[in-house]
Amino acid sequence: MRIVSVKIGDLVKLKKNHPCGENRWKVYKVGMDIGLECQGCGRRVKLFRRDFNRRFKGYLKEEIEESENFKG
Ligand SMILES: [Zn+2]
Repeated sequence: MRIVSVKIGDLVKLKKNHPCGENRWKVYKVGMDIGLECQGCGRRVKLFRRDFNRRFKGYLKEEIEESENFKG
């Protein structure tokens, strides 16, 4: 079983978009369940850790770093 390690402030993608069309989520709580805030509409949801592991698609950090390499 894959265990996804996240910390507060991480940006993640899930397998399904939120109904608002956004698929960027910010982690605001880590514990027995994972709290996620939709970056499109601001709605907050909580997922059990095992549900989060199943729905997790990837981190957004790398994409953000790529777009921030303008300093050369
Ligand atoms: Zn949303």
